[in-house]
Amino acid sequence: MSQGIVTASYIGATILFILALGGLSHPETSRRGNLYGITGMALALLVTIANVTANWGILVGGLLIGGTIGLILARRVQMTEMPELVAILHSLVGLAAVLVGFANFMDPTVHFEDSGEQKIHDIETYLGILIGAVTFSGSVIAFGKLSGKMSGNPILLPARHWLNLGLLLTTIWVGKMFVEQSAAGSGLIPLLIMTGIALLFGIHMVVSIGGADMPVVISMLNSYSGWAAAATGFMLNNDLLIVTGALVGSSGAILSYIMCRAMNRKFLAVIAGGFGTTTGASTADAGEQGEVVALDAPEVANLLADSKEVMIVPGYGMAVAQAQHIVCEITKALKAKKVNVRFGIHPVAGRMPGHMNVLLAEAKVPYDIVYEMDEINDDFPNIDVSIVVGANDIVNPSAQTDPDSPISGMPVLEVWKSKTTIVLKRSMATGYAGVQNPLFFKENTRMLFGDAKSSLDAVFKNL
Ligand code: NDP
Repeated sequence: MSQGIVTASYIGATILFILALGGLSHPETSRRGNLYGITGMALALLVTIANVTANWGILVGGLLIGGTIGLILARRVQMTEMPELVAILHSLVGLAAVLVGFANFMDPTVHFEDSGEQKIHDIETYLGILIGAVTFSGSVIAFGKLSGKMSGNPILLPARHWLNLGLLLTTIWVGKMFVEQSAAGSGLIPLLIMTGIALLFGIHMVVSIGGADMPVVISMLNSYSGWAAAATGFMLNNDLLIVTGALVGSSGAILSYIMCRAMNRKFLAVIAGGFGTTTGASTADAGEQGEVVALDAPEVANLLADSKEVMIVPGYGMAVAQAQHIVCEITKALKAKKVNVRFGIHPVAGRMPGHMNVLLAEAKVPYDIVYEMDEINDDFPNIDVSIVVGANDIVNPSAQTDPDSPISGMPVLEVWKSKTTIVLKRSMATGYAGVQNPLFFKENTRMLFGDAKSSLDAVFKNL
C-alpha cells in the first residue's frame, strides 16, 4: 500500500477519533460518537494490517484470538461489571506497551547511525515501558478493588512518600544507566530492573488509595494508558498511535481533573495516597446514631403522589438492581399526575464516570430533566420528596460535618434539605467508602428497605 494512502487513512482515523470524543461528551450525541470511534478504529486496523508485508499468520492468529476473547467478554459482561472491565482493559494497554517496548529493544533490525537519534529512541523505549508497567500493575489492582476481590480500604505503608520518592529517583538513575549501556550494545538488565520497579510502583500507588478516591485512579489509569500508547507511537514512529495515545492521555487527564474537582481533592494528594482511611468517628455503629424509620411501598407511593416537586438521586445500587427502567416508568406516572420530577446526578455516583447518565439514557429518561450536582444542589429546600435510589456516599452529610471522615470535603447532594427524603437500599450496610451515613437517622428521612427494583415495582403498582 502506498505511503500516501496510509497517511491519508491515518489522518481520516484521527479525525474520526476527535469526532468520537466530541460526540461522547453529550448523551444525545454519544451514539454517533461511538459510531465514529468504531469506524476510526476499523479504518486504522485495516490500513495497518494491509501495510504489513510479513508474518501474516501471526497477525491473523493474534487478531482471531484477541477478537474472540473481546467478543465473548463484551457479550457476557453485565452493566454492573463495566467498571472492572474498563480497568482490566487499561491493564492490557499497559501490558502491550511493555511487550512492544521489549520486542522493539531486542529487535536486531533496529539500528541508528546517529548516536543522538539512538539516545532519543532509547528514552522513548524506556518511557513507554515505564508508563506501560505502572498502568498494567495499577490497573490490575484497580480491577481487584472494583470487583470486590480486594478490600477497598487503603493499605498505607510507613514512610510511603519516601518510598515513592526513592522509587522515582532509582528509576531516573537506572534510566541513565540504560541509555549509556544501550549505546554500547547492551542495556537489558537496567530495562528489566526498571520494569520491576514500575510494576511495584503501580501496585503501591493504587493499594494506598482509599475507596472513595477510586474515581480519580480510574480516570488517571485511563490517562496513563494513553500516554503509554503515545510513547510507543514515538518508539515505533507511528503517527496514528502518537495522536490516538495523546487524545486518550489528555482526555483522561481532563477527566481526572473533573473527578478531583467533584471530590474536592488535589490530584497530587490523591496519587500520594492516604485519603480514604476510615476512623472510629466516621464508622460509628448504626446503633450509636439513633433510630431509623422505615416505610412500606404504599406509603411511599402516597408521599410521591401528594408532592409537587420530586428529585430522584440514583447511585450504584440502581445499577446493581437494574432499576433504571422502573425509575423511568415512575417518572412518567408522576408527570401524568402533574408532579415535577427531576434527577440529580453526582459526578462520582456509581463505579465509573458517567455511570448514572448511561443507565438513565438506556431507560430513555429525557435528558432535559437530568441535572448535574452543581446545577441542582441549591434546589433541595424546594423539594417535597427526594428519592435516593441505591446511593450512599454521594448523599452522606458527614462529608460536610465530620473532618475525620474519609469523604470529608467531598461535595455531596444535599438531599436532607428536602421536606422528606426516602432512601431505597437493602440493609444498613455502608457504601463504597465504608462510612456510616447519618442521613439515614435524620428526622425527615424514611427508609424503604429491599432491592431497589422490587421496591420501586411495588411503589409503581400503588401509584
Ligand atoms: P455507594 O457505593 O456509596 O452506595 C451504594 C448503595 O447501594 C449501598 O449502600 C447499597 O446498600 C445500595 N445497594 C446495593 N445494591 C442495591 C440494590 N440491589 N438495591 C438497593 N440498594 C442497593 O454508591 P454511590 O453511588 O452513592 O457512591 C459511589 C461511590 O463509589 C463513591 O464512594 C465513589 O467515590 C466510589 N467510586 C466511584 C467511581 C466512579 O467513577 N463513579 C469509581 C470507583 C469508586 P445495601 O447493600 O444496604 O443495599
